[in-house]
Amino acid sequence: MSSSIQDGQSSQQNSPIGDRIAQICSQLPTSVRLIAVSKQMPSAYIRAAYNVGIRNFGESRIQEAVNKQAELQDLSDITWHFIGHLQSNKAKKALEHFQWIHSVDNLKLAQRLDQLASELAVSPQVCLQVKILPDANKSGWSVTELLEDLPTLNLCKNLQIQGLMTIPPVGLRESEILDVFNQTSKLAESIQQQNWSNIQMPELSMGMSGDYKLAIQAGATMIRLGTILFGDRS
Ligand SMILES: *Cc1c(COP(=O)(O)O)cnc(C)c1O
Repeated sequence: MSSSIQDGQSSQQNSPIGDRIAQICSQLPTSVRLIAVSKQMPSAYIRAAYNVGIRNFGESRIQEAVNKQAELQDLSDITWHFIGHLQSNKAKKALEHFQWIHSVDNLKLAQRLDQLASELAVSPQVCLQVKILPDANKSGWSVTELLEDLPTLNLCKNLQIQGLMTIPPVGLRESEILDVFNQTSKLAESIQQQNWSNIQMPELSMGMSGDYKLAIQAGATMIRLGTILFGDRS
């Protein structure tokens, strides 16, 4: 991703969106994977981002993503990340169209994905969505619930559990947001130290347009940026 941006080889054909994305990318540490959140954006925008080296895209609605993927079939090395709340009746489609699911937010969903992954002979990479602070507007495990569910999650052998995902509640101050990210990072570390055979915690999916710098400070490995790359969603 970064090489074609840093050497500027395609700068002449860049679109305005491409230029903006390349500019933001050039300021990110190389340890951080940028997920370009293209929800509500047309496939042409994804193509513009692709042309400046972006290969990871995030979508939050299955059917919308499937439609765009059909228009982008020639871009065969894109990695697709599902980041929205996943209803269990869409779980199969999610597995057919995404390599990563960041938003596995309850045990039942994890078990359903595990079962379907076995039937489809795939092994998706997943993050477990956790709520460090109570938040009625979001799904996800509380810390206590997650720790209780780890033994059962460890039995989901068809899932590659790779880390935690979190979204801080709206309305926090910067110091509180940073605290949420730091606590998520510590939680991942402590789970890693429990040495589960089928739960790894190298990835931290946290940080959006408004708070990604704080997330990086706290050790994010994947940031999910939409607005700052593509502009406002209507
Ligand atoms: C929409 C969305 C994003 C991107 O948000 P921006 O503020 O536009 O960067 C990131 N993560 C999730 C889960 C989202 O739904």
